[in-house]
Amino acid sequence: YFITFEGGEGSGKSSILKSTEKKLADLGYHVLATREPGGIEIAEKIRDVILDPEHTAMDARTEALLLAAARRQHLTEKILPALEEGKIVLCDRFVDSSLAYQGFARKLGIDEVFSVNQFAIQDMMPDRTLFFDIEPEKGLARIAANKNRERNRLDLENIRFHEQVYEAYQLLVSKFPDRIQVINADQSFAQVEFDAVKYIDSYLKI
Ligand code: C5P
Repeated sequence: YFITFEGGEGSGKSSILKSTEKKLADLGYHVLATREPGGIEIAEKIRDVILDPEHTAMDARTEALLLAAARRQHLTEKILPALEEGKIVLCDRFVDSSLAYQGFARKLGIDEVFSVNQFAIQDMMPDRTLFFDIEPEKGLARIAANKNRERNRLDLENIRFHEQVYEAYQLLVSKFPDRIQVINADQSFAQVEFDAVKYIDSYLKI
């Protein structure tokens, strides 16, 4: 099964993904945790290009194409082989991030960005997606409190951009109600982790 974690900045999804991986392994599942953009060397290099704070001139379509290219390589080199081995793949961000960030917030159009991604993923959509729901203002405040975090190009965006991303995720949740599960991320770490593990475990048991 292919399960993705989605959400805005400071939603905690990346930390929750790591702890969920451990919990699911303890429950006896064979799990592979990975992330986007990145997950393998080629895609991590593309990630560095996309997020470099110096690259303020990057065109939105260039960004969308680079993300799709990184996704393609990540899928063929790492995700698909793991799924073939019968593993549960947990991926931090996938195509929904592109629909929300590039399609909606950067105004390229959700359908247009989906078609670029369709070329890259060839119908390989996640089986289930967890959306970590927290208002952008609260998420950004969490990030501001974390001084160890690496800064990137997205730090230059204003709150309005992150509100657009949030609005896009709500849209995606209503568009794909069977695939996307909302997890309330505005709770303690332990509670969010509990909700995520419970949802995935019950989904996998069906
Ligand atoms: O989730 P993570 O913090 O690793 O994402 C790295 C950065 O890439 C974030 O700032 C995120 O907003 C950005 N990003 C993006 N478009 C995507 C995926 C990620 O701008 N499609």
